[in-house]
Amino acid sequence: MSQPGYVATPPYSQSQPGMGGFSTGLGPPTSSPHYGHYGGPNSLYSAPQSGMLKSTVPFGSSAPVGSPPPGIHLYNQTNLQNGPGTPGHQQHRFQGPSPGSSVPPSYPPYSHQSQPPYANTASPSSTAQLANQLGTMQINSYGPGASPSSRMPSGPPASFQGPPLPPTQPQMAIPPGAQIPPTPANNLNGICTPPSLPPLAMQDGIPGSGPPNANLQQLPGQPPGPGYHPQHVNYGPQMAGSQLSYPGAFPGGPGQLAGPQQKKLDPDSIPSPIQVIENDKASRGGQTYATNIRGQVPPLVTTDCVVQDQGLGSYYCQSLSKKTSTFRAETFVTSKENPSCTDEFTQGNASPRYIRCTTYCFPASSDMAKQARIPLAAIVTPFAIVPPNETPLYVVNHGETGPIRCNRCKAYMCPFMQFIEGGRKYQCGFCSCVNDVPPFFFQHLDHVGRRVDHYERPELSLGSYEFVATLDYCRNNKPPNPPAYIFMIDVSYSNIKSGLVKLICDELKTLLDKLPREEQEEASPIRVGFVTYNKVLHFFNVKSNLAQPQMMVVSDVGEVFVPLLDGFLVNFQESRSVISNLLDQIPEMFADTNESETVFAPVILAGMEALKAAECAGKLFIFHSSLPTAEAPGKLKNRDDKKLVNTDKEKTLFQPQVNFYETLARDCVANGCCVNLFLFPNQYVDIASMGLVTMYTGGTLYKYNNFQVHSDSPQFLSDLRKDIEKRTGFDAIMRVRTSTGFRATDFFGGIYMNNTTDVEMAAIDCNKAVTVEFKHDDKLNEDTGALIQCAVLYTTISGQRRLRIHNIGLNCSSQLADVYKSCETDALINFFAKSAFKAILTQPLKTVREILMNQTAHMLACYRKNCASPSAVSQLILPDAMKVLPVYMNCLLKSCVLVGRPEIPTDERAYHRQLIMSMDVANTQLFFYPQLLPIHNMDVKSDAFPTSVRCSEERLSEGGVFFLANGLNMFLWLGVSAPPEVIQGIFNVPSFAHISTEATQLPELDNPYSKKLRSIMKYSQSQKPYSMKLIIVKQREQPEMLFRQFLVEDKSIYGGASYVDFLCCVHREICQLLN
Ligand SMILES: [Zn+2]
Repeated sequence: MSQPGYVATPPYSQSQPGMGGFSTGLGPPTSSPHYGHYGGPNSLYSAPQSGMLKSTVPFGSSAPVGSPPPGIHLYNQTNLQNGPGTPGHQQHRFQGPSPGSSVPPSYPPYSHQSQPPYANTASPSSTAQLANQLGTMQINSYGPGASPSSRMPSGPPASFQGPPLPPTQPQMAIPPGAQIPPTPANNLNGICTPPSLPPLAMQDGIPGSGPPNANLQQLPGQPPGPGYHPQHVNYGPQMAGSQLSYPGAFPGGPGQLAGPQQKKLDPDSIPSPIQVIENDKASRGGQTYATNIRGQVPPLVTTDCVVQDQGLGSYYCQSLSKKTSTFRAETFVTSKENPSCTDEFTQGNASPRYIRCTTYCFPASSDMAKQARIPLAAIVTPFAIVPPNETPLYVVNHGETGPIRCNRCKAYMCPFMQFIEGGRKYQCGFCSCVNDVPPFFFQHLDHVGRRVDHYERPELSLGSYEFVATLDYCRNNKPPNPPAYIFMIDVSYSNIKSGLVKLICDELKTLLDKLPREEQEEASPIRVGFVTYNKVLHFFNVKSNLAQPQMMVVSDVGEVFVPLLDGFLVNFQESRSVISNLLDQIPEMFADTNESETVFAPVILAGMEALKAAECAGKLFIFHSSLPTAEAPGKLKNRDDKKLVNTDKEKTLFQPQVNFYETLARDCVANGCCVNLFLFPNQYVDIASMGLVTMYTGGTLYKYNNFQVHSDSPQFLSDLRKDIEKRTGFDAIMRVRTSTGFRATDFFGGIYMNNTTDVEMAAIDCNKAVTVEFKHDDKLNEDTGALIQCAVLYTTISGQRRLRIHNIGLNCSSQLADVYKSCETDALINFFAKSAFKAILTQPLKTVREILMNQTAHMLACYRKNCASPSAVSQLILPDAMKVLPVYMNCLLKSCVLVGRPEIPTDERAYHRQLIMSMDVANTQLFFYPQLLPIHNMDVKSDAFPTSVRCSEERLSEGGVFFLANGLNMFLWLGVSAPPEVIQGIFNVPSFAHISTEATQLPELDNPYSKKLRSIMKYSQSQKPYSMKLIIVKQREQPEMLFRQFLVEDKSIYGGASYVDFLCCVHREICQLLN
């Protein structure tokens, strides 16, 4: 759609001529700034018009809502702006790199199309080049102390065999080749090539034995999908064999795999994700994490802590008691360390709940970045939920003046602006432009050059806050109406027959009382409307003064229109009785239907037109079951073709079948229409096509295969309730600004992009994240760091236009060790997953997998070469912050999206792909590495949860009971010898044999086992975007196969490598690069 080009650019690969442009000296921005007026605000800042509000739920009085005049204007790009560039000067609004943007116009705009095909990076020549580049790198030995971990003790060195590590060495090291010989590569997700050189060369680590790039050069010649032959070997840890030498060559047949196996590698001696998670919990859990230090690495997503966004840092604010009392005093809790009050300690940064980065220290130059190949990215969750014990965002209202912005780059006032000349001017931290301080905003500076009102204004001291936007930020300069929700129910035969329609209607009667509302309001301002459909559409008039609802049928689905304006979108409270009446009637009205064909795209179109006619943004809730085969725009046919799997055409399975949906998605975004889709398929429904509009409009896709009312209702209803109650920003547009030297080049998520800079979202809710990739333009300044400002313009549920600002400052360094030390593996995996899942639209999956593997090896080889202390080449050394990168990367490579296997339904792959594209870091972490908890031995007297164990069959036991959850699926696994008292406690049955695996919920029993297990399940369900249906699995019974797919450290039934094997493969690649 807007980004037809490939996506998963291996950052800084050699083969990107597009990067060349980056190195041309940028110098000071060359644009001649066009200064916008700010409406000539001469009035002094005065409390009544510009006080700060707290933005929990009470957003103050809603904006005036007049009845919209007739005549609907179709919004175009120039109306959709992230704030007024210059009122009256449309050309300054966000239109790519314009004079009003942060990108100087002399610079060629970033374009996906300008880049070479993705496949090039895996071509023999470029791969060899990369290897050569690494090979010629200067070994910059920092010695053991050069990359100290500031975060946690090193891994489990005690369990290592071989030469002990130097005590201060923070890296993870695996001893020489005897323990990790090269693995026969063709069983590893198809990403490693069959070794053709004598493996012994690897084992003693002698450089130069054999052509160093022989393997890599073979890549293109491989038959497609060699990695997915049936595996005849056991799961990883059980692999036997103590042979240290390999036969001279690996013919590559599956039968060979079991043969030359290495000496068993103790799984406890390789980096454990659980260990890393637990170490972080132990060192940082339960503490307060203050965001006031630039470039500090936050606690892991799996660690609970209290985040404090504070610009104050370390000393008491002297002017706390002045004017603005709404700025709550609790935020001024001080920390005792750091008595310094330099700027470094006075800047707030956005909470890691809002922004997480792949590294908190950017390489100072693009050469360094190319060398390390660590993706530079931020994962932004602008509407993330903050727990009640953290301060909600403050709202700043400058009245008619609107937010203060840099004249040149349009960045919003923030802690990165430096006040000079006695406070009369400020220098922008992003573009260095010196701006006048508007008179109403003037304030004197104190003895250290800080404004005396520094701590009274969120926009001067905090990482995150909101501005009330002025009319300039609204479509057509008119305040928006509150949004509307339209419920659109497929009433074709199967849905009526299954009882689904009745279930939905019954639920809506009570659910609509829970529509989101502002905290101090009694009722929700959100209006609701109802449509049913099969081959035709039925609109309902539910105006409050009607005795009975009225139905209007639109049978011309080729040119769908909205047959009524008045009475379609209504206030639920006012029309309660008519709506209730309607919801009672719908199941009866269609009870005798024989219609099994449906339309789909016209339904979305009708919903969008209705919102457009009502001049409001909103959400559609569509409940649909089948492939839309009825004659209409967007009609689909079953085009699922397993023969395409593992071919170059596999990508077409992830692309929409017809272009209509892309156009529809664009129109929906342009009109603020977000599409939530609840699918109940019994067979292939072409999710790649049907889910497209949902994905691009920031909506959520829910899927319930073979839906049964009796067993699947709880999951569906829970999803529906959560979605309706969700905090959402509507009609949103996001803009990411950066300080000079780097910029945002790519975006991933449930977003739409008409140009290269504006991230448009019909809506964005608390669970949706946008991943932003950055690249260098120039050298970065180590003193000032790398600054990022993410601004989201949106409409609140009451129809107020707001700007939500998140700022974060990162460090910059010319030392690679600093960069590696500041990495966050969970964020890296989020980036890699999204970039790979975007890339598969245009690239063969095999290529995408190869690039992921290649980049993993490069990142680790570069560390090894430049940061690690000297050691035998055959020793695997991992940076502390990336200890678990290989295991997580392997999980990504084995995910059903990237594994090409005909057994995996195409819809399932397309579904997972879509979900992950908008996931935040916490959810991708859990998705790729599920949580596995032992239940049988938990301490039922304590509130503490059991400690997770690694996702491997080895960790299970016949006498055990284990709970596994990954955010989408939830299992209770029961060993054949599970203790009877535990079984009795959980199921109220006497023995293993009596347990029914039919149940999807546990009985509510009044005993400690039942209570504790249910509280664990409830907790793991809380704050998750999707409800998980419980599957009970008995050891050695058929459903266990499904469960085993989630034991991600083991070799998968679909041919994915075990963790041990993958680590060996990575090691081998690294050795190749180092040689
Ligand atoms: Zn600026």
